[in-house]
Amino acid sequence: MKKVFIYKNDVPRTLEIVKSLEGKLAVSGIEVADTPEDVDLILCVGGDGTLLNLMQNHEFPTIPIAGINTGHLGFFQEIPPEKIDEFIVKFIEGDLMVQPYNIAKADIQFEDGSEIAYRALNEFVIKGQGTHPIHLNISINESFIERFSGDGIIVSTPAGSTAYNYSLGGALVDPRLNLLQVAPMAPMNNTAYRSLTSSILLPANDSLIIKPCDEQSSTLGILFDGQNKVYSGIKSIELCLSRRKINLVRFGGTTFWDKVKSKFL
Ligand code: NAP
Repeated sequence: MKKVFIYKNDVPRTLEIVKSLEGKLAVSGIEVADTPEDVDLILCVGGDGTLLNLMQNHEFPTIPIAGINTGHLGFFQEIPPEKIDEFIVKFIEGDLMVQPYNIAKADIQFEDGSEIAYRALNEFVIKGQGTHPIHLNISINESFIERFSGDGIIVSTPAGSTAYNYSLGGALVDPRLNLLQVAPMAPMNNTAYRSLTSSILLPANDSLIIKPCDEQSSTLGILFDGQNKVYSGIKSIELCLSRRKINLVRFGGTTFWDKVKSKFL
């Protein structure tokens, strides 16, 4: 017997759709589990934000995840509620295609020797807290690249390239590419400060190392997938692609660029 776990937001339309979904699963002989462990599939009902919450709350599960869209944009959430019957048939027949997605990792080291790590499906945003610009030494692996001055840095995965990164002028990236995109937020570039003004792309095994240049820049906001933390006494932040990937079910036979066209143009 196939087993699924349902993750949902608490929006009334979602709850209505989940009720009907549970009825359809029961009729099809599919068990709904209470936890995402040992299931064949996770059904995520909501918008892209719901999928991001699922990742943070359930440790980026590698079990295939199918998104039923009740949100606004639904870039990850490919199954429209009216196609749930069609989807269930494909699931029972084992006729689902899965797309692996990279996730990003940030290791934060503090002056007192402690450290903390986070993962993100979309992006990490490293930014100052006040109205002053922040100054950060940026290296790629062992090579020092620049002393960045400006509002902050956004480091996004290909999946996140269509989110905040895109609003900041970053490039759209096909999720089949294994890379990290580093985009500056309001970089200062004049005779006093020199910062790169375009985004740069890092291959899968490279790391971006960020070190605050002064006391004020060592208090930073770390935003990841809609979560927001503020830390002081930061010594360095290392960002790279995680070895772990998540697996999203593709539905409807569209390509990444078909989705870009239908959602953005
Ligand atoms: P939210 O207000 O629900 O999300 C903001 C919007 O981003 C929603 O329309 C959401 O789609 C969409 N979105 C999320 N991931 C996407 C992706 N990979 N590609 C295209 N669109 C995507 O806030 P939230 O739930 O906390 O989501 C956090 C995300 O919001 C962050 O990861 C960041 O990328 C994005 N964000 C964007 C801006 C900006 O563009 N200026 C500013 C801050 C944060 P749904 O409607 O389907 O949920």
